[in-house]
Amino acid sequence: MLPYGRQSVDDDDIAAVTAALRGDFLTTGPTVGAFEAALTAHLGGTGCVAVTSGTAALHTAYAAVGVRPGDEVITTPITFAATAATAALHGATIVFADVEDGTANLDAAAVDAAVTTRTRAITAVDYAGHPAEYEALTKVARRADATLIGDAAHSIGSVYRGVPVGALADVTTLSFFPTKNLTTGEGGAVAATDPAVLGRARRFANQGMVRDREHLRAPDEGGWHQEVHSFGLNYRLPDVLCALGLSQLRRLGQFKTARARLVARYNEMLAGVPGLGLPVQRAWTDPMWHLYPVRIADGRRREVYDRMRAAGIGVQVNYLPVHLHPVFADLGYRRGMCPAAERFYDEQLSLPLFTDLTDADQERAVEALRAVLG
Ligand SMILES: *Cc1c(COP(=O)(O)O)cnc(C)c1O
Repeated sequence: MLPYGRQSVDDDDIAAVTAALRGDFLTTGPTVGAFEAALTAHLGGTGCVAVTSGTAALHTAYAAVGVRPGDEVITTPITFAATAATAALHGATIVFADVEDGTANLDAAAVDAAVTTRTRAITAVDYAGHPAEYEALTKVARRADATLIGDAAHSIGSVYRGVPVGALADVTTLSFFPTKNLTTGEGGAVAATDPAVLGRARRFANQGMVRDREHLRAPDEGGWHQEVHSFGLNYRLPDVLCALGLSQLRRLGQFKTARARLVARYNEMLAGVPGLGLPVQRAWTDPMWHLYPVRIADGRRREVYDRMRAAGIGVQVNYLPVHLHPVFADLGYRRGMCPAAERFYDEQLSLPLFTDLTDADQERAVEALRAVLG
């Protein structure tokens, strides 16, 4: 089965991981800081902390901005469940705002209408790699006195109005899962423009532990002494995986070029196919495409999915709107709450897109789709 996404690992990556394995540190060693520094350079200079997954990054981000019971977090239903689940685990009430019809990104007007005095954070998702509407969302967040979080699991390498992902929101979270734009196996990162927020993120991801003498309650306890000042978890990304990430980052530009070329080819080959909607791109964005999401009209998405899978093309649906998952349905969330998101889900299909997708495999995917839609 041709997958919808997969990693690109080369000999340099393997050599980098091997070198880290031969080093003194499997876990927290020098490569962690080197990876974070290199990542910062790709995030418009925003400081960051490497963590064990995109989910850990979101959980850490919400902790760092102080999300707690009684707070509301506004987010999009067109995302992976973790965007909402990690805020719910901090006790927040999740408020789903609807998406724009074209990009399927969070609609700033819908967010504005959902703001209350309890709104603590607004989490946008750069769906498929296309940046959310950060200019409008920033205005809404400032008016609401809420933190703007960008779940950039899809979008490292993307640019919005000349500004790279990582420098667009107050806090940005990344995922390095193998299907994403770059990989560390499992992995992720949190970037924050405010050093105090970044410090809290770093602390949460490292057991809430305080070591620096100036912050200790008992600085004279002894050289071994460290203190927990707030509860945290072990979300540290190991040295070995940071070595893979550092090596992958060197090729991020190449990855972007390869994905852009494949997207242009899809756009050309699929133009004018009846009953097919192609991805929408705003003129002021330069996405690093993670997904190639098309829309299948006339209620035929299920049929297209089944027939393409039967033909060996591993298409995917991204995503079941999060409010329709049973965990939210059991809390009273219902179909009808976000009509644009639900319509998008009913029609959405992701075609294979990854750096090493061959032209022949791409053509095979296009032919399989054309064979169904005529
Ligand atoms: C992949 C993904 C996550 C979770 O990342 P993991 O690294 O798989 O934990 C969160 N949000 C979005 C939008 C994602 O696509």
